[in-house]
Amino acid sequence: MLPIVYHPNYSCPFPSDHRFVMRKFVDLYQQVLKLGLIAPDQNNLYTPHAATIENLACVHDVAYLQSLVGNKVDQKAWRRVGLPWSQGLVDRTLTAPNGTLLSARLALQKGLACHLAGGTHHAHIDFGSGFCMINDLAYTAQTLLQNGEVKRVLIFDLDVHQGDGTAAILQDQPNAFTCSIHCQKNFPFRKQNSDLDIGLEKGLEDAAYLQVVAKTLNQLLNEFQPDLVLYDAGVDIWQGDDLGHLNISSQGMVERDELVLSTCLKQHVPVATVIGGGYDQDVLRLARRHAVVVEAAAHLYHQYF
Ligand SMILES: [Zn+2]
Repeated sequence: MLPIVYHPNYSCPFPSDHRFVMRKFVDLYQQVLKLGLIAPDQNNLYTPHAATIENLACVHDVAYLQSLVGNKVDQKAWRRVGLPWSQGLVDRTLTAPNGTLLSARLALQKGLACHLAGGTHHAHIDFGSGFCMINDLAYTAQTLLQNGEVKRVLIFDLDVHQGDGTAAILQDQPNAFTCSIHCQKNFPFRKQNSDLDIGLEKGLEDAAYLQVVAKTLNQLLNEFQPDLVLYDAGVDIWQGDDLGHLNISSQGMVERDELVLSTCLKQHVPVATVIGGGYDQDVLRLARRHAVVVEAAAHLYHQYF
């Protein structure tokens, strides 16, 4: 069965009226369980352990990490993160990056794996931003490259917001290719330079969107020849998302995830997925949307492996 990565600390105690839906992780886990995609007798659920400051120092500033863990980030910088500090928040923030790393390693072994969290792509080297404190994508890519576990990684970021932190952190890492396809007129308003940025117009619809995704991915797989794709399947592209400005239908999202995963698998390139952003006060609806990429992956895993 498809390897799935999750930790019970992902949904820490949190204000329920906050725009960031902290309970979406446990809701997603329960949704995936309900869909029968986790089976206790198949051992396909994997649990990461927390990363240390030493681990994360390959992509983050140590003084920043220490101030984050000790609740010593100055107020102005902390406002940029937009989340209330708590020990629970720190625990989940240190664990989730290793969840993405574990998913990537499982993908390298088995072809495909899904993380029920991750995609904190607005975290920079020495500051957090937009609900992100540690950049799991940059951390995973850099760790695998440093250890010689891969030669080239493609980060294919389809969250509706630009992956600015990932682009900035990995700008001098030639073996990690950062591609962000996002809505141009949206947060972050000061963009960074990914290796490839495609800024879409507000209100773009399914057919045009899927065409851009397909063309870009095919081109990158052929030209960059990655050993691994980290796919950020952010669902804030959905037409009803609270923070997105694209007009992608539910069916369009299903087609996107199937397209991305099947394109990689057809070319024998392993893929690890992270959930990325998604904003909706209807939490069950949000969990179902984040489950779409896992459902698509489970279906293709069955077909390919
Ligand atoms: Zn987003």
